[in-house]
Amino acid sequence: MEVDLFSLLNKQLDQLSKRQLSRRRRVVDSACGPEVLLNGRTMLAFCSNDYLGLANDERLFTALNKGVKQHGLGAGASALISGHYRAHQQLEDALAALLSDHIPNSAALCFNTGYMANLALITSISAAFQGQLEVFSERLNHASLIDGIRLARANYKVYPHADLVALEKMLASSQAAIKLLVSDSVFSMDGRIANLPQLLELAQHYNAWLLVDDAHGFGVLGSHGRGVLEHFNLCSPRLIYMGTLGKAAGLAGAFVCADKRLINWMLNTARSYIYTTAMPPAMAQALQTSLTIISGPDGNQRRQHLQALIALFRQRFQAAFGGAESPKLLPSGTAIQPIVIGDNQKTLQVSQALEQRGFWVPAIRPPTVAPKTARLRITLSAAHSVDQLNRFLDALIPLLKNVEQKDNYVV
Ligand SMILES: *Cc1c(COP(=O)(O)O)cnc(C)c1O
Repeated sequence: MEVDLFSLLNKQLDQLSKRQLSRRRRVVDSACGPEVLLNGRTMLAFCSNDYLGLANDERLFTALNKGVKQHGLGAGASALISGHYRAHQQLEDALAALLSDHIPNSAALCFNTGYMANLALITSISAAFQGQLEVFSERLNHASLIDGIRLARANYKVYPHADLVALEKMLASSQAAIKLLVSDSVFSMDGRIANLPQLLELAQHYNAWLLVDDAHGFGVLGSHGRGVLEHFNLCSPRLIYMGTLGKAAGLAGAFVCADKRLINWMLNTARSYIYTTAMPPAMAQALQTSLTIISGPDGNQRRQHLQALIALFRQRFQAAFGGAESPKLLPSGTAIQPIVIGDNQKTLQVSQALEQRGFWVPAIRPPTVAPKTARLRITLSAAHSVDQLNRFLDALIPLLKNVEQKDNYVV
């Protein structure tokens, strides 16, 4: 029987749509910020990962421009051919220095995206050890870590979320010569912070290495914004760190920071580093300015303001709902403040009702999160004002009360 590719795909898409799982993109007509232009309307947005409000910062704008004047636009080639500019080298040196209190003998390697950095890490480590490697991966890890494990065809075990007792059992029974623990630092759909001190202890005890994906921590956590390692004051040669530069750092890209020898190995073997055009050098230049802002007094103020917003959000939510089972505000101390509603349709409806009122909050549904745990993923940014947050809560709380009472929620 002949089948038509596109009509078959269309059927699949219909299925997704029936299950309230089809996805679409929204076209934004303004810069990233608390207020964005959507369909000709100004909306108050609580969905970006621009935690420090740097994505539209004048100083970065100027630095990027300066970089363009100096280096032009594209890198023109992959890093190993001719695309590694002075600006890239300086950025990598700055990143390695920034984390040198936490990672001895540190070096850094820059990537176009965090997704590629995670692929690079796991595939290149795996390539060095073939059958001797076993990966221990946290259940809620980011898709890019999971894909890295798959692409590496590494032996792996998944441990239940935050269950370090289960992890320890797995480690104790492992025969692998090289053990690699892999965890997000801040879980992107939960906002909770992994217990890295204990993970590192396990790594030390079982002679394992610990890969930390700090996409949501770098720039935000720690008193100088150095991320989760600073937050917990961790230092170990066993740490392998991945940070992204498109979230709190306000631009684009990512980096790995680890022992120089691992960085050198990745440079030689990681296919998602080698076979791709290097980041535009002007971007690498602007990122250095971003690092300076993050580490300085302005970065401090932004982190403090963000913490105040987080506290206000949680206070008002708890005052409205107490410890109610539903809607459930997850126990998060970070800028990611998810409210689990459960049902896909109800979650979508609240998101749509918010949109009608001028607020943009995405409904996150399976498979991004576990079945029956659809949620509003609210993210706060230092760019939000207290007044903006209060206006949002004034709209959100009554809508959530409505969803509790009515089974068939009507917008
Ligand atoms: C965003 C994210 C990534 C990917 O980073 P990009 O630079 O956006 O590709 C990796 N890990 C986690 C936990 C993330 O949230």
